[in-house]
Amino acid sequence: MSNVEGFCLKCKTYGPIKDGKEIKMANGRTRCAGFCSQDGCTGKISKIIS
Ligand SMILES: [Zn+2]
Repeated sequence: MSNVEGFCLKCKTYGPIKDGKEIKMANGRTRCAGFCSQDGCTGKISKIIS
């Protein structure tokens, strides 16, 4: 799961999610949660993918 892109609220950049993991939510949907791939940014990115 590294080809999912999301918006980082910390550096205000749209880019690929690093170390993304699929997380099943209680409502049956799936989201990808990981970290911003920008150099030096430690922001987290979470995005619903299905
Ligand atoms: Zn960032």
